[in-house]
Amino acid sequence: MTAPLNAPDIMSALSQRFLHKFSHTPRIFRAPGRVNLIGEHTDYNDGFVLPAAIDLYTWAAVAPRDDHNLNIFSENLDQQAQLDLRAIDLRPKNHWSDYVAGVALMLQRLGIAITGADLAILSTIPSGVGLSSSAALEVSIASALLAVSNRSLGLLEIAKLCQRAEVEFVGARVGIMDQFASCFGSAGHALLLDCRSLAHTLFPSPPGIAMVVCNTMVKHGHSGGEYNQRRAQCEQGVQILESLLPEINALRDVSLAQLVSQRAVVPELVFRRCRHVVTENQRVLRFVKALDQNNLPTLGTCMAESHLSLKNDFEVSCPELDLMVQLATECEGVVGARMTGGGFGGCTINLVESNSIPAFTNRVSKNYKQITQIDPEIYVLQAASGAVEVSWNS
Ligand code: ADP
Ligand code: MG
Repeated sequence: MTAPLNAPDIMSALSQRFLHKFSHTPRIFRAPGRVNLIGEHTDYNDGFVLPAAIDLYTWAAVAPRDDHNLNIFSENLDQQAQLDLRAIDLRPKNHWSDYVAGVALMLQRLGIAITGADLAILSTIPSGVGLSSSAALEVSIASALLAVSNRSLGLLEIAKLCQRAEVEFVGARVGIMDQFASCFGSAGHALLLDCRSLAHTLFPSPPGIAMVVCNTMVKHGHSGGEYNQRRAQCEQGVQILESLLPEINALRDVSLAQLVSQRAVVPELVFRRCRHVVTENQRVLRFVKALDQNNLPTLGTCMAESHLSLKNDFEVSCPELDLMVQLATECEGVVGARMTGGGFGGCTINLVESNSIPAFTNRVSKNYKQITQIDPEIYVLQAASGAVEVSWNS
């Protein structure tokens, strides 16, 4: 189905579906997706990231059952799955319900007795394009299951357990950024997150500038394996460097000068992977300083350098992402453009002056289609607040 876009329509569609499927009235929770402004592949290196939660959400309707089953219906996929809470199969099934099973299992591992429940989900976040539909699914489900079980947990605990669900159960070695942004998002703000201390600072969006995300509509099949390989290459870099520089625990601790001084002992490929992470951390810090000073040219320079580093040193871009960035930079009113998310397809993030958005959207869509024969999708997004229970009055 095509999801309706405004909140009352979504709540009404979801409640009606829920009533029809499960014959009772649900409570409804929602959790946002996120876009990362800068700081790519730094989270699992204990570094800095700058995501904003976005006004695209996964909505979860829930009501308790008096048995031990979780019945979960995905409106987006028009599919239902059932899990027995007394015996969650410890192996993932390579199925979307793994995200739900993972969250339930991690709640149980925290000693939380969750009740059986009927659940229905509906998401307006395009799936698998780097806007974090997976974290939004996890966080909305965790919020819903906690509420029907009459339990509560702090937001940081929720973010961490959802990350563990994805890493330990689903099997994707993701960092904490996505779940953190989905929990701690703040309307009109980006979040600078220190992935080591998990301390965060809010930065207001620059006035008159919008976040515009361009979806290349391509997903290159090798993304999962390559992601894990990049992590392994970063770990290899740390292993070599910490044997020479004992104060180092992660690439976060390495300065560019230290890295360059060890160039002779670090294999060329690993050196380039490390150089991306080290310079990207510096760019995040330069970027937030520029945000504070409303220094738009520096924001643009940081984004351009980030894209080039991801393309040349980390090698996670692809021709479609490079083209989308190039087309954006040719438009009027563009502050900056870069790929966002893990790479190998997915989306670019563009900071665009609000009054240039219609021209930007038209020009980029037309030129991208002309060159690739692919119709891109373009989303104009607002920085949104994190997961909440929604009532009909809100
Ligand atoms: P991203 O998080 O960037 O969207 P992922 O590959 O991490 O991409 O997560 C996408 C996966 O999450 C989907 O393939 C599906 O398994 C699951 N998912 C997300 N939203 C839904 C939904 N509304 N219904 C069912 N599964 C979903
Ligand atoms: Mg994801």
